[in-house]
Amino acid sequence: MGLYICGKCGALVENFSPPSSAGCPVGGSHYWIKVCNGSLVAKPGLKPYQCRKCGATVYCQSFPSSARCPKGGSHSWVRL
Ligand SMILES: [Zn+2]
Ligand SMILES: [Zn+2]
Repeated sequence: MGLYICGKCGALVENFSPPSSAGCPVGGSHYWIKVCNGSLVAKPGLKPYQCRKCGATVYCQSFPSSARCPKGGSHSWVRL
């Protein structure tokens, strides 16, 4: 499953394809970035990572994408 994070509001969504961009609480449309193939919950074969800037926690097959942290610049992922 793909894991997507909005680069504006920081919402995390697990979905097969990019979610609807309507209704970002920060204003306008969500700005979805695919973080990795993974999940929002721990599953066998997935590794946990947390961004030290926005606090998002993700479970990924491989190192997550650092593009566009909602706190500005790139995510700063650390392996938990
Ligand atoms: Zn958003
Ligand atoms: Zn971040």
